[in-house]
Amino acid sequence: MRATRLISTGNVQTIDADTPTRGHADIIVKVEAAGICGTDRHLYKGEFPSVANTILGHEFSGIVTDAGNSGIPTGTRVTCDPNTWCGACDQCRKGRVNLCVNNIPTGIARDGGFAEYCAFPAHKAHVLPANLHPLHGAFCEPLACTLHGMDLGSPQAGERVIVIGGGVIGLLAVQIAKNAGAHVMLLTRSTAKQALGQSLGADLVAGSKDAALDQWPQGAELVVECAGVEATVSMSPSITQTGGRVVVLGVLPQGKQVAIEPFDLLFREIQMHYSFLNPFTHERAAQMIANASIEVAPLITRTISLEEVPDVIANDAPAGEVRAIAIP
Ligand code: NAP
Repeated sequence: MRATRLISTGNVQTIDADTPTRGHADIIVKVEAAGICGTDRHLYKGEFPSVANTILGHEFSGIVTDAGNSGIPTGTRVTCDPNTWCGACDQCRKGRVNLCVNNIPTGIARDGGFAEYCAFPAHKAHVLPANLHPLHGAFCEPLACTLHGMDLGSPQAGERVIVIGGGVIGLLAVQIAKNAGAHVMLLTRSTAKQALGQSLGADLVAGSKDAALDQWPQGAELVVECAGVEATVSMSPSITQTGGRVVVLGVLPQGKQVAIEPFDLLFREIQMHYSFLNPFTHERAAQMIANASIEVAPLITRTISLEEVPDVIANDAPAGEVRAIAIP
């Protein structure tokens, strides 16, 4: 089969690979759709821990071709929760599974979804409806991560929420906040992404901190950072209302420092949370994708072949692109 491997940092290639064999606890799926995530670009640049020679792709869904001992009928559409916690380490035993020290993420530390077929642990499969659009299952993983962040931020009906970053994570966060009854502002520079955000429910848009504060001088009760750059993490508390909260989902390169004023956080008692991965949220995400309570079709900018994946990962996303989806 064809598959896209991260050979080493800075070297990703689509090459021939053996069709996966099934471990005793695995299922095998024929991959239908796999999203190119910012994390794939971080992995390519060596900004996120990786394992050499792994087939990338951690946002994917497919059709079960070998169900093993799972009891899932062959032919079922499933989404893969890539994070495979050990269940035995201290953090897992406390229920903090996303902090598992032995996590083996599919598509990062074991072969993933940029391939015609993928084997992964059966208990990490979540069933999707047969009539779902085949590309939509690829959004379960980013939605599951966004749900965890929004659970931490807990937007309330009537609150003001600023979402920073008009990529997939930000546009999912806008919809979750809106569904919670919040007033939502999307802060992102691209006017095309601002327009997309408005079509998905954002009440207001801004292209900068000043433009956000012009509209809400006191800031927002909740700020959700989904851009993953130094400037936006640093800016987040300054557009948060006194007594409010910040949730950072964005990933900055390891070692990167960001200017934060502790006195301001203290004196205005700003709670600053960080949200990592998708603890126990993947099934909820699958249900939300299945019942279309979150719109994902407008987030698909283009579909690409596996042969195109290396070039897409090695370069920044073109202006205006939200998600490129690989179809193996
Ligand atoms: P993305 O497509 O790169 O979107 C980020 C957006 O931020 C861009 O579209 C960009 O849009 C905007 N942006 C960049 N600089 C900005 C600035 N100075 N001011 C305002 N907006 C700015 O990424 P994504 O896939 O949505 O993911 C977002 C972040 O979450 C990434 O860092 C990703 O690695 C991370 N992530 C975290 C988790 C987790 O578990 N915590 C899970 C998945 C992803 P404009 O050009 O319009 O400004």
